Amino acid sequence: MEGIDTRFKYEVAKHLNGRLSTNCDTCGVCSSSCPVAEYVEEFDPRRIIRMITLGYKDRVLGSTTIWYCALCNTCTVVCPQDVRFKEVIEIIRKMAVAEKYVSPSFLDDLDQIEKECQVYRCEKIASRILELNPEIKKGKI
Ligand code: SF4
Ligand code: SF4
Repeated sequence: MEGIDTRFKYEVAKHLNGRLSTNCDTCGVCSSSCPVAEYVEEFDPRRIIRMITLGYKDRVLGSTTIWYCALCNTCTVVCPQDVRFKEVIEIIRKMAVAEKYVSPSFLDDLDQIEKECQVYRCEKIASRILELNPEIKKGKI
């Protein structure tokens, strides 16, 4: 079938001590626990695992969504099947770079985006506190 690579799940498993995405029983606990999936509809860990299992290599490695994961590890902690999705994401990201689905320079961009997110987060926290507590002063301790 076009676009299907039945070896894909084995390629991923090779980097995970042989642990296969087929361990997943599609319970969906990862997706319902994921803080990114809560706000970004198109990001669904269960769906990504399923696509790996079915062999959609090009679609997975060529997707923007594999880069949305915040690597918080919640999905790994809650998974009843020990799939360890965070490790799976890290592996498929490495594969996406190694197999030129994204350029290596994208990793630098990703680092920069993560840093900018921290600045945005702190500014958002500060502005909300100041809005609700005008007596508090912004600045260093
Ligand atoms: S590691 Fe990624 S997929 Fe897993 S819960 Fe955190 S953000 Fe979601
Ligand atoms: S929590 Fe684990 S078993 Fe359940 S869908 Fe997610 S990866 Fe699969």
